[in-house]
Amino acid sequence: MLHQPMTALSDAVVNNSLTRCYYLHITCFACGELRAAVSEIPTTRFFACPRCQGEAEYRIMGQGGTLKALPFWERLVSDQYAAFWKTVNH
Ligand SMILES: [Zn+2]
Repeated sequence: MLHQPMTALSDAVVNNSLTRCYYLHITCFACGELRAAVSEIPTTRFFACPRCQGEAEYRIMGQGGTLKALPFWERLVSDQYAAFWKTVNH
């Protein structure tokens, strides 16, 4: 699956002047779950958390294109959990 040809996607990226990027799912012990887009796949087992620069684990989620400047990231689960616990514990 990882070695599937990406020709169609690559053409779409070029035609739309998008910046090619890789999506990472990052698990940081301090920040929780984050989703990030980076210009290059990390070469090391661990990844510096984009939020706190701590050591974090990552999974490569896929390749795509973006109009935003790389890298960018957003926090995923923790805030949703926080909102969830607020509704549960009030
Ligand atoms: Zn972090």
